[in-house]
This record gives sequence, structure tokens and C-alpha cells, in this order.
Amino acid sequence: MQDRKPLIAGNWKMHKTPAEALAFVRDFLPRVAGLAGVEVVLCPAFPALVTLAGALAGSPVALGAQNMYWEERGAFTGEVSPPMLVATGCRYVILGHSERRQHFGETDVSVNLKVKAALRHGLLPIVCVGEKLEEREAGLTQNVIATQVRGALEGLTPNEGRHLVIAYEPVWAIGTGRNAHPEDAQEVNAYIRALLGEQFGPGVATEIRIQYGGSVTPANAQELLAQPDIDGALVGGASLDPESFAAIVRAAAA
Ligand code: PEP
Repeated sequence: MQDRKPLIAGNWKMHKTPAEALAFVRDFLPRVAGLAGVEVVLCPAFPALVTLAGALAGSPVALGAQNMYWEERGAFTGEVSPPMLVATGCRYVILGHSERRQHFGETDVSVNLKVKAALRHGLLPIVCVGEKLEEREAGLTQNVIATQVRGALEGLTPNEGRHLVIAYEPVWAIGTGRNAHPEDAQEVNAYIRALLGEQFGPGVATEIRIQYGGSVTPANAQELLAQPDIDGALVGGASLDPESFAAIVRAAAA
């Protein structure tokens, strides 16, 4: 691996009220104090962002959102804009999570609009891609990944590209307790890096962090993170408990 600092991101999905988020952070921060060589971001639901921004201030843990709209303002009831996330203290935003593609109609085109909007406003997008089980079984993993990566990143320049994080999340591994085999995840992550190289050049592709996500736990984190093209983890279920998330962060720091 080059100098890519692993990024461990907690995706809390639709869990934790502001009070619960605050209790988590008070418990979690001492558990990761003093760890070097790893970057950590917590992505709560929108109502907890302000509370967490205060609780994380002065700590090395960054704040991220789980989604956003691409417009800056206007008649878009229920949506949240990039400047609102920036003003709240967000550094990262998860975009194109498979649950948003599945339940809320997100497409590569809408993900692309969101990625561009995030970059315009100085937010670092964590762009999620991943194949479904039937696609893997049909031997279509690379086709699906190529379509999603090219679609999400269409029109981006190399200079924009270096601010991206990609999360490879096989859909069949999310929330199932069945993580991808580390060598299989490595193979896809290396393929994603090759795609990034086609678009941005090999130098920029080498700088971009590519996470793995899908049933990451303290038990499997070390083996996954030891792969040369796995530069961190996007963690759902195991990020809800302070000690299990801290154990994953320690595995990345080790
Ligand atoms: C996710 O939601 O991005 C995820 C990977 O979930 P889990 O860790 O629970 O599989």
C-alpha cells in the first residue's frame, strides 16, 4: 500500500437519536484516543448531526452525512443541501449507498450529480458501489462495478478525483453477517483502482482510498484491511456499539 491513510467510517443508517449519538461518542472517544495512522468518521442520521458536531469538536473523529441533494436551495421538500451539511460541520458524505439505490430510486446519474455537488462545496464523497448476489453469480461483478464507477464519476477531472473515497460494498454482504472473502474484496478493489486509473491516470488512482464494506466486524477487520487495495472500511451494524467500532478502528491503526 502507498501512503493512503485508512478511513474507517461508521454508517449508523436510521439508528440513534441525538441523545443516543451523544452517549455513543462519550463512550467511544476515550477508546480510540491516541491512535495514529487511521482516520475515523461517524455518519449519523440528519437530526443527530448538530449534536455530534459539538461532541466531536476538538477530537480527531470527523463528521459525515449519509446522503444529500445536489441543489443548493429551493423547493425540494425533505431534502438537505451541500451547504447545509458544510455549515453543520460535515467533512464527508456517503453517496449512492445500495439502500438508497434500492429503496429511494437513486441511479448512477443522480449519484453523479451528488458527487459533483459535494466536491463543489468541499465535501469529501464516499461513493458506494457493489454488485447484487445474482450479478456475482452470473459472473457480472466487473461489468456492474465498471458501470457504477464510470457513471458516478463521469465528467470529473483528476484534480477532483483525488478528493474521492470509494466504498466497495457487495450488496449481498451488507447487514447479512456474510462478509466478502478478503481476496475477493481485494480483487474488486484492485479492479476499481484500475478503473480510476483509466479516468484519472495511475498517479491519482494510487492516492484514492477504496474502502470495503459489508458485515465488517472486529473479528474479520484485520484480515480485510491487510489487503493492499483495501484502504479502510464502511461499517454499518458493528459501528453502532462503541467497543466494536473502536476495535475495528484499532485493527486499522495496527
Ligand atoms: C453499510 O451499511 O454500509 C454496511 C456495510 O452495513 P453492515 O456493516 O451492517 O453490513
